[in-house]
Amino acid sequence: MSMASLPIGILGGTFDPIHYGHLRSALELLGTLDLAEVRFVPCRIPAHRGTPLVTADQRMALVRLATADQPGFVADDRELLRDGPSYMFDTLLSLREEFGDDAPLSLIVGTDAFRELHTWHRWRELTRLAHIVVMRRPGALQSLPPVLEKFIAPRVIHDAFALRQKPAGGILFQPVTQLNISATQIRALLAHGQSPRYLLPDAVLACIHDRALYRTQPLNTPVPA
Ligand code: ATP
Repeated sequence: MSMASLPIGILGGTFDPIHYGHLRSALELLGTLDLAEVRFVPCRIPAHRGTPLVTADQRMALVRLATADQPGFVADDRELLRDGPSYMFDTLLSLREEFGDDAPLSLIVGTDAFRELHTWHRWRELTRLAHIVVMRRPGALQSLPPVLEKFIAPRVIHDAFALRQKPAGGILFQPVTQLNISATQIRALLAHGQSPRYLLPDAVLACIHDRALYRTQPLNTPVPA
């Protein structure tokens, strides 16, 4: 295999909307793990939660805006182009086909997402396709389900170098600066007419206002006579 190739980071999510918690963590991993790039992959139909307030295309547009001016950030729309639920297994398979068998791939997940890994579609096979980088997130519980503890033990790796040694198979716990920001909080602020400024990029917020996204009132509410 080619030893020169730097790992490609893959950050999946609902991004409903994208915020500085996502962006700052991704930038830190890009630097500390010496990643070739971080690909932001919004899901089409979230597999693990209810229907979001805005469309997948709208969430994608916000991800494009947020990532446009940062070298190494890539907005990746492959889950929007696929039918059915967005399974990370299918996404990694598609990236594996695109980048080849030797390219190190690193699936990036927050601690809260990682705690649920054993509920994901074909979860035990994810590490055949990619490494997993777990970033610590504020508020997340420290203890993990026993089934995950067992899965992690033989796979744990301890540094960025190990990510480059193999194309897949390792699990790395990587601290990132704790920013207690969630999309839930941003949606709640917007729904109450309060400003989420400084929790997400101004360009993203401007687009949210321009397109009147995240208003509580359904768009098809009849206009009173
Ligand atoms: P919601 O509040 O709607 O659940 P969210 O803010 O958690 O959304 P997601 O799109 O679900 O955002 O998250 C995508 C990925 O980013 C997940 O792996 C999640 O753990 C991680 N993540 C989300 N917020 C942060 C944060 N503040 N710091 C680090 N990682 C985060």
